Amino acid sequence: MPATPYLGRFAPSPTGPLHLGSLLAAFGSWLLARHAGGQWLVRIEDIDPPREVPGAVDSQLATLAAFGLNSDLPVQYQSRRSHLYQTAIAQLLAQDKAFACHCSRADLSSQGGIHRRCVASQQRPQAAIRLRVADGSHVSFDDALQGLQQQDVDREVGDVVLLRADGYWAYQLAVVVDDAEQGITHVVRGADLIESTARQILLQQALGLPTPGYLHLPLLLDSDGQKLSKSQAAVPVDSAQPVPVLRWLWAALGQSPTALETSTSVAETLQQAAAAFVPARLQKTSVRAPLQPPG
Ligand code: GLU
Repeated sequence: MPATPYLGRFAPSPTGPLHLGSLLAAFGSWLLARHAGGQWLVRIEDIDPPREVPGAVDSQLATLAAFGLNSDLPVQYQSRRSHLYQTAIAQLLAQDKAFACHCSRADLSSQGGIHRRCVASQQRPQAAIRLRVADGSHVSFDDALQGLQQQDVDREVGDVVLLRADGYWAYQLAVVVDDAEQGITHVVRGADLIESTARQILLQQALGLPTPGYLHLPLLLDSDGQKLSKSQAAVPVDSAQPVPVLRWLWAALGQSPTALETSTSVAETLQQAAAAFVPARLQKTSVRAPLQPPG
């Protein structure tokens, strides 16, 4: 066993059925956890009711189960963890590391939407809470696949919203609190979230939380080069034919095409994949999805 136990995760938002791109992130993070002899958990990020699609939680969990990607620990739901986010916000407010803000999108439009000081034209019914991002907040981190990443969070992002003006927790707050509270050591997810990582690290530092390792997997693009999840090609994966889909995902992760040729069941495919996985073969750049989904 490694000195620090590896705990990875897959954290889908229930905004629809899982598509090939989300499954690539799930399989990739599962493979890295297994390769490290670690555990892997599923967390449902259901904190945005306006964007939630009824039935999506069940459908996502059923898809993961059909692909054999079962959480090693009980599945957690962010909608049931508000007390943790509340405590984190209270701590930041008490330390003057966060502040209430009435600025609207329109108020901030002349600054490219980036908040550096309050310019609210009027009081809103409910204030947002933002992280106070100091001038010169330069964050760099070494992504295990994409290499050194840097962001000037103050200039490029501004004061990060933690509690939205509509009363919902922001993704950035919930993900940071949960990754730490659940003891996640390695965050492996799609490259569409790489831009969020610097602000998450800044928030971890403000809360006195450890920073996990990060690895951002390649995105699947459709034939027009569009991000898959935003395009017509983001069709739900076919759970009826999991083995060919796993083989396709395996190839998209740059792995040896012959390694999974002989498997006959999902369990056998996953077993062979865990044994044959070579992290150094991971693709850094985006991958084109097939016009016809595998299956
Ligand atoms: N819930 C986020 C999403 O589905 C992912 C969060 C994460 O992996 O950090 O886009």
